[in-house]
Amino acid sequence: MAQMPCPSCKKPLGLTFEFIQKNPIMQCPHCKTIMNFSVSPEIEKKMKEGLAEIERIKKKYKGMVKFG
Ligand SMILES: [Zn+2]
Repeated sequence: MAQMPCPSCKKPLGLTFEFIQKNPIMQCPHCKTIMNFSVSPEIEKKMKEGLAEIERIKKKYKGMVKFG
């Protein structure tokens, strides 16, 4: 089974191509780079929506967690 290194930090992702085919967009656990293994414009649109959603969740979470 072939495994993909991160294209940014070159660290092994421990992911198979089968997994990538099912999950073409993912974030590197090491350097947090968003990787898009799909070239479909429809997927790209979904990725942007997904990233916007992640940002919304981050902001929401940030607002909910207060220390001190
Ligand atoms: Zn990386």
